Amino acid sequence: MAAQLTLYYGCMFSGKTTALIQHISALNLKSNELIVLKPASDNRVSSSHITTHDGKKHACLIHDANMDLNEVITPYTKLIAFDEAQFFDKTFLFDVKKYLLKGIDFVASGLDKDYLGRPFGLMPMLKTIATNQHHLKAKCEHCGSDAEFSYRKLDNKVLMLVGGKEYYEPRCQECFNNI
Ligand SMILES: [Zn+2]
Repeated sequence: MAAQLTLYYGCMFSGKTTALIQHISALNLKSNELIVLKPASDNRVSSSHITTHDGKKHACLIHDANMDLNEVITPYTKLIAFDEAQFFDKTFLFDVKKYLLKGIDFVASGLDKDYLGRPFGLMPMLKTIATNQHHLKAKCEHCGSDAEFSYRKLDNKVLMLVGGKEYYEPRCQECFNNI
């Protein structure tokens, strides 16, 4: 079977990182068969772990412009997982395609929309090559419907404002556009 790219995407608080960690755990890989990456820009909570909002974590490597994936991949590598996929740069996409062809599976989680509801970073491109996609939803803070938007509660125009419930709340499309 050809290698798979599985994508968990949705708004903030939709359980993306939790789904990513569950996906990894269910495979029961040996530690040398798995590489977990997160982008250098996500400094939330811990620098060497991916962390969910409810406190689950998994050890990982920081991926930045200087990192050569070729140097961390070994003949044992079976799966590469990456969190906050929207923040990875375009050159990483070439690596994903390259190593999929070499039989290494990928699993990623990320925000598909930024705080203005626009396609976010690398996500649209990852969606075009993903073999499995899971659209996760949160619960709208206002009406309780399925939420797929991350509403920013403060007036700050920085695109990469990383944070939790102090900055963001999940909203459905109607509440996102009308409140
Ligand atoms: Zn709503």
